[in-house]
Amino acid sequence: MLNQDLRGRRALVTGGASGIGLATVTMLAECNAKVAMNHLEDDPAGREQVARLTAEGVDVISAPGDVGDPNDAEAMAQRAITELGGLDYLVNNAGMSGTEMPIPPSNLDMIDEELWQTLLTTNLISVFRISKAAAPALKEANGAIVNTASTAGIGLQGSSTPYAASKSGVVSVTRSLARGLAPSVRVNAVAPGQVETRWTAGWPEKHKQAALDKSLIKRHVQPEDVAQVIIFLLIGASMITGQTIVIDGGMTVS
Ligand code: NAD
Repeated sequence: MLNQDLRGRRALVTGGASGIGLATVTMLAECNAKVAMNHLEDDPAGREQVARLTAEGVDVISAPGDVGDPNDAEAMAQRAITELGGLDYLVNNAGMSGTEMPIPPSNLDMIDEELWQTLLTTNLISVFRISKAAAPALKEANGAIVNTASTAGIGLQGSSTPYAASKSGVVSVTRSLARGLAPSVRVNAVAPGQVETRWTAGWPEKHKQAALDKSLIKRHVQPEDVAQVIIFLLIGASMITGQTIVIDGGMTVS
């Protein structure tokens, strides 16, 4: 648990029902913030996790909606802001790979228009559309945004060509939003390397071992490692904006 008191602060975390999003929701709520957890309408983990956290005595509400759908995403953000009574922190974390196993860049035939469209609308355009919907409330609160990019967005391979492009886009949109929402709202991103979540659970052992071999810290990145940096960028980094912070145990510099 972080040693911060965020009583009175209101946060919306997209893709909050599992992995990095859930770790972020949990840490913010344990610091006494009121948190809206976005999740897909039909994902049972969403309401289950909200019920579990509520039973633990923290203030978490459910914000169902598909961030990849323009109308649904905007309506979800507006509803969450109304229910929270404003917004101090937005974490654009929802994302998908669209593939069970990484697709090597040489396998062009496995990548079609549909995968491009799905990954761009879910991973990239969602960041802009939800930030746009939340901008008035965030400006009023002098708030902050953190987006979840990836080391795939800063030059590493990632799970596919469209995935890497979507995350490079997140790095770029982070800079543009930082310019566009200054000086009242700071906007940053995190770029995790391979994180132990349900996302990577089914990946071949050799992929996971390769990440460990390249890591300087010699352990797998956990969702909580990323959540800590997200919260630092939200609440503590008053002179940092437009930046993307890599969280990979030193993998990209080894
Ligand atoms: P995860 O699968 O546990 O979390 C992703 C969450 O986003 C899930 O709860 C999923 O249901 C939700 N989601 C997917 N599409 C959505 C949509 N259209 N609308 C609303 N919610 C949606 O995996 P994770 O690793 O915690 O992923 C979180 C973020 O971290 C993603 O943006 C991912 O690209 C990024 N990331 C993950 C890794 C990794 O190795 N796990 C590495 C770098 C970046």
